[in-house]
Amino acid sequence: MKSKFATVINCMDGRVQDPVNEWMKARTGATFIDVITEAGPDRIMASTATASRLILKRILVSRDSHGSKEIALVAHHDCAGNPVSKAKHLEHLVQSGKIMATWSLGMTIHMLWVDKNGGVELISSIDS
Ligand SMILES: [Zn+2]
Repeated sequence: MKSKFATVINCMDGRVQDPVNEWMKARTGATFIDVITEAGPDRIMASTATASRLILKRILVSRDSHGSKEIALVAHHDCAGNPVSKAKHLEHLVQSGKIMATWSLGMTIHMLWVDKNGGVELISSIDS
């Protein structure tokens, strides 16, 4: 049975909210998306201590109170919070995924890239 909730760690950038939420609903069948926002979340998540302090507690609320089984981490074009090349963003997503995998969340984690047109690309998925 599909969970009614899924979770997204997204940038605070207003351009990426709707495309990612729609992608996540289509991917997971969820009705509602719990959204955790930061400025440049892929940069933040790539740093273990910072990520744990700021974000892990909120992920657990979504998982434990809402039954979310899938989570997406977003990096995007023209990110003011993490102004680096796409290649560097993808490195940050990979590093973030390695850290999240150690948290034993029991969730599927999707790494997403949003391009300049709001297109959402699935970079990779891992089980944590
Ligand atoms: Zn951003």
